[in-house]
Amino acid sequence: MTSGLLDRAGVRHGFTTRTLGDVMPDLLGWEQESGLRRESLVRLKQVHGTDVLVVNRSIDRLPPVEERRFDAAVTNRADVILGIRTADCVPLLLYSPEPRAVAAAHAGWRGTLEGTVKNAVGALAQTYNCPVDSLRVALGPCIHPCCYRVGPDVYEPFLRRFGEEAAYIRQDDRFVDLVAANRHWLVRSGVLEEHIEVLDYCTHCRADLFFSHRREGSPGRQLAFVAL
Ligand SMILES: [Zn+2]
Repeated sequence: MTSGLLDRAGVRHGFTTRTLGDVMPDLLGWEQESGLRRESLVRLKQVHGTDVLVVNRSIDRLPPVEERRFDAAVTNRADVILGIRTADCVPLLLYSPEPRAVAAAHAGWRGTLEGTVKNAVGALAQTYNCPVDSLRVALGPCIHPCCYRVGPDVYEPFLRRFGEEAAYIRQDDRFVDLVAANRHWLVRSGVLEEHIEVLDYCTHCRADLFFSHRREGSPGRQLAFVAL
Protein backbone atom coordinates (compact mmCIF):
# COMPACT_ATOMS: atom_id res chain seq x y z
CA MET A 1 0.00 0.00 0.00
CA THR A 2 1.09 3.55 -0.48
CA SER A 3 0.09 6.93 0.89
CA GLY A 4 -1.52 9.26 -1.65
CA LEU A 5 0.07 12.19 0.15
CA LEU A 6 3.60 10.76 -0.22
CA ASP A 7 2.85 9.57 -3.77
CA ARG A 8 1.92 13.12 -4.77
CA ALA A 9 5.11 14.40 -3.13
CA GLY A 10 7.05 11.97 -5.31
CA VAL A 11 8.81 9.96 -2.61
CA ARG A 12 9.48 6.23 -2.90
CA HIS A 13 7.74 4.37 -0.06
CA GLY A 14 5.27 1.66 0.86
CA PHE A 15 3.61 -0.47 3.51
CA THR A 16 3.64 -4.20 2.81
CA THR A 17 0.68 -6.52 3.48
CA ARG A 18 0.42 -10.29 4.05
CA THR A 19 0.64 -10.79 0.31
CA LEU A 20 4.41 -10.29 0.48
CA GLY A 21 4.74 -12.58 3.50
CA ASP A 22 6.61 -12.13 6.77
CA VAL A 23 9.43 -9.67 6.16
CA MET A 24 11.40 -10.81 9.20
CA PRO A 25 12.95 -13.87 7.55
CA ASP A 26 12.08 -13.17 3.96
CA LEU A 27 12.49 -9.95 1.98
CA LEU A 28 12.34 -11.64 -1.42
CA GLY A 29 8.70 -10.73 -2.04
CA TRP A 30 9.37 -7.13 -1.11
CA GLU A 31 12.45 -6.98 -3.36
CA GLN A 32 10.51 -8.36 -6.32
CA GLU A 33 7.51 -6.10 -5.79
CA SER A 34 9.42 -2.88 -5.03
CA GLY A 35 12.41 -3.36 -7.30
CA LEU A 36 14.60 -2.36 -4.33
CA ARG A 37 17.45 -4.31 -2.77
CA ARG A 38 17.75 -5.54 0.82
CA GLU A 39 21.44 -4.53 0.81
CA SER A 40 20.28 -0.89 0.86
CA LEU A 41 17.65 -1.35 3.60
CA VAL A 42 18.60 0.15 6.97
CA ARG A 43 16.92 -2.05 9.57
CA LEU A 44 16.72 -1.13 13.26
CA LYS A 45 16.63 -3.34 16.32
CA GLN A 46 13.44 -1.56 17.49
CA VAL A 47 13.51 -1.67 21.27
CA HIS A 48 10.35 0.38 22.04
CA GLY A 49 12.53 3.38 22.84
CA THR A 50 12.63 6.91 21.48
CA ASP A 51 16.15 7.26 20.02
CA VAL A 52 16.70 8.29 16.41
CA LEU A 53 19.53 6.97 14.23
CA VAL A 54 21.01 9.57 11.89
CA VAL A 55 22.12 7.66 8.79
CA ASN A 56 24.97 9.86 7.60
CA ARG A 57 27.25 7.20 6.12
CA SER A 58 26.95 4.30 3.73
CA ILE A 59 25.13 1.24 5.01
CA ASP A 60 28.26 -0.91 5.27
CA ARG A 61 29.73 1.61 7.74
CA LEU A 62 26.75 1.50 10.13
CA PRO A 63 26.91 -0.63 13.29
CA PRO A 64 25.38 -4.11 12.89
CA VAL A 65 21.60 -4.39 13.25
CA GLU A 66 21.89 -6.00 16.68
CA GLU A 67 23.56 -2.84 17.97
CA ARG A 68 21.09 -0.43 16.36
CA ARG A 69 18.92 0.12 19.42
CA PHE A 70 16.75 2.74 17.75
CA ASP A 71 13.08 3.10 16.89
CA ALA A 72 13.47 5.80 14.26
CA ALA A 73 15.95 6.83 11.60
CA VAL A 74 16.52 9.88 9.43
CA THR A 75 18.64 10.40 6.35
CA ASN A 76 19.26 12.69 3.41
CA ARG A 77 21.22 10.05 1.52
CA ALA A 78 19.82 8.61 -1.69
CA ASP A 79 21.68 5.28 -1.40
CA VAL A 80 19.78 3.91 1.59
CA ILE A 81 16.20 2.82 2.33
CA LEU A 82 14.78 3.31 5.82
CA GLY A 83 12.63 0.43 7.06
CA ILE A 84 10.39 -0.30 10.04
CA ARG A 85 8.83 -3.67 10.88
CA THR A 86 5.45 -3.80 12.61
CA ALA A 87 2.54 -6.09 13.42
CA ASP A 88 0.19 -3.81 15.46
CA CYS A 89 2.49 -0.87 16.28
CA VAL A 90 2.31 2.33 14.24
CA PRO A 91 4.74 2.73 11.33
CA LEU A 92 5.31 6.40 10.45
CA LEU A 93 7.03 7.64 7.28
CA LEU A 94 8.12 11.28 6.99
CA TYR A 95 9.30 13.27 4.00
CA SER A 96 10.82 16.71 3.72
CA PRO A 97 10.62 18.07 0.15
CA GLU A 98 13.14 20.92 0.60
CA PRO A 99 15.77 20.22 1.72
CA ARG A 100 15.09 16.61 0.81
CA ALA A 101 15.24 14.12 3.67
CA VAL A 102 13.22 11.19 4.96
CA ALA A 103 12.48 9.53 8.28
CA ALA A 104 10.83 6.33 9.48
CA ALA A 105 9.58 5.69 13.00
CA HIS A 106 8.10 2.79 14.98
CA ALA A 107 5.63 3.56 17.76
CA GLY A 108 3.99 0.96 19.95
CA TRP A 109 2.24 2.18 23.07
CA ARG A 110 5.51 3.07 24.81
CA GLY A 111 6.99 4.91 21.84
CA THR A 112 3.65 6.64 21.28
CA LEU A 113 3.45 7.75 24.90
CA GLU A 114 7.05 9.02 24.95
CA GLY A 115 6.90 10.66 21.52
CA THR A 116 9.30 8.74 19.25
CA VAL A 117 7.81 10.54 16.24
CA LYS A 118 8.38 13.92 17.89
CA ASN A 119 12.06 13.00 18.09
CA ALA A 120 12.09 12.00 14.42
CA VAL A 121 10.61 15.39 13.48
CA GLY A 122 13.19 17.08 15.72
CA ALA A 123 16.04 15.14 14.08
CA LEU A 124 14.90 16.20 10.59
CA ALA A 125 14.71 19.83 11.72
CA GLN A 126 17.99 19.87 13.62
CA THR A 127 20.14 17.66 11.39
CA TYR A 128 19.05 18.90 7.98
CA ASN A 129 17.24 22.18 8.73
CA CYS A 130 13.98 20.81 7.35
CA PRO A 131 11.08 23.24 7.92
CA VAL A 132 8.57 21.32 10.01
CA ASP A 133 5.58 22.96 8.33
CA SER A 134 6.59 21.44 4.99
CA LEU A 135 6.93 17.85 6.27
CA ARG A 136 4.58 15.19 4.89
CA VAL A 137 3.75 12.30 7.21
CA ALA A 138 1.96 8.99 6.61
CA LEU A 139 0.75 6.73 9.43
CA GLY A 140 0.49 3.16 8.18
CA PRO A 141 -1.77 0.28 9.16
CA CYS A 142 -1.74 -0.44 12.90
CA ILE A 143 -4.09 -1.55 15.65
CA HIS A 144 -6.95 0.95 15.94
CA PRO A 145 -9.05 1.81 19.00
CA CYS A 146 -11.80 -0.58 17.83
CA CYS A 147 -9.49 -3.37 19.00
CA TYR A 148 -6.87 -1.87 21.29
CA ARG A 149 -8.24 -2.71 24.73
CA VAL A 150 -5.64 -2.02 27.44
CA GLY A 151 -5.13 -2.19 31.18
CA PRO A 152 -4.88 0.75 33.56
CA ASP A 153 -1.06 0.69 33.20
CA VAL A 154 -1.47 1.95 29.62
CA TYR A 155 -4.78 3.78 29.89
CA GLU A 156 -3.87 6.05 32.81
CA PRO A 157 -0.67 7.56 31.33
CA PHE A 158 -2.40 8.01 27.95
CA LEU A 159 -5.28 9.83 29.61
CA ARG A 160 -2.90 12.08 31.52
CA ARG A 161 -0.78 12.92 28.47
CA PHE A 162 -3.31 13.07 25.63
CA GLY A 163 -6.69 13.43 27.34
CA GLU A 164 -9.92 11.80 26.23
CA GLU A 165 -8.95 12.25 22.60
CA ALA A 166 -6.73 9.16 22.87
CA ALA A 167 -7.93 7.28 25.96
CA TYR A 168 -11.49 6.30 26.73
CA ILE A 169 -13.79 3.83 28.41
CA ARG A 170 -16.32 1.80 26.46
CA GLN A 171 -18.63 -0.62 28.26
CA ASP A 172 -16.31 -0.77 31.27
CA ASP A 173 -13.24 -1.56 29.14
CA ARG A 174 -10.33 0.81 28.56
CA PHE A 175 -9.12 1.67 25.06
CA VAL A 176 -6.36 3.87 23.70
CA ASP A 177 -5.94 5.40 20.25
CA LEU A 178 -2.36 5.20 18.97
CA VAL A 179 -3.20 7.13 15.80
CA ALA A 180 -4.74 10.08 17.67
CA ALA A 181 -1.81 10.18 20.10
CA ASN A 182 0.82 10.21 17.33
CA ARG A 183 -1.18 12.86 15.47
CA HIS A 184 -1.14 14.88 18.68
CA TRP A 185 2.69 14.79 18.77
CA LEU A 186 2.95 15.71 15.09
CA VAL A 187 0.62 18.70 15.32
CA ARG A 188 2.26 19.86 18.52
CA SER A 189 5.64 19.64 16.77
CA GLY A 190 4.38 21.96 14.03
CA VAL A 191 3.34 19.51 11.29
CA LEU A 192 0.27 20.79 9.44
CA GLU A 193 -2.95 18.76 9.70
CA GLU A 194 -3.28 18.69 5.92
CA HIS A 195 0.20 17.17 5.67
CA ILE A 196 -0.75 14.11 7.74
CA GLU A 197 -2.33 11.05 6.15
CA VAL A 198 -3.64 8.07 8.10
CA LEU A 199 -4.03 4.83 6.18
CA ASP A 200 -7.28 3.82 7.76
CA TYR A 201 -6.73 0.09 8.31
CA CYS A 202 -6.81 -1.76 11.62
CA THR A 203 -4.28 -4.60 11.59
CA HIS A 204 -6.35 -6.54 14.14
CA CYS A 205 -9.64 -6.26 12.21
CA ARG A 206 -8.17 -6.99 8.79
CA ALA A 207 -6.81 -10.52 9.13
CA ASP A 208 -7.03 -10.81 5.34
CA LEU A 209 -4.43 -8.08 4.88
CA PHE A 210 -2.19 -7.84 7.92
CA PHE A 211 -0.26 -9.71 10.57
CA SER A 212 -1.42 -8.76 14.06
CA HIS A 213 0.50 -9.33 17.26
CA ARG A 214 -2.62 -9.25 19.38
CA ARG A 215 -4.59 -11.57 17.13
CA GLU A 216 -1.86 -14.09 16.37
CA GLY A 217 0.49 -13.98 19.35
CA SER A 218 3.72 -14.48 17.45
CA PRO A 219 2.91 -13.13 14.03
CA GLY A 220 4.82 -12.18 10.94
CA ARG A 221 5.68 -8.54 10.32
CA GLN A 222 4.82 -5.90 7.76
CA LEU A 223 7.53 -3.61 6.39
CA ALA A 224 7.15 0.15 6.03
CA PHE A 225 9.89 1.71 3.91
CA VAL A 226 10.86 5.09 2.51
CA ALA A 227 13.76 6.31 0.37
CA LEU A 228 14.89 9.35 -1.54
ZN1 LIG B 1 -9.90 -3.15 14.81
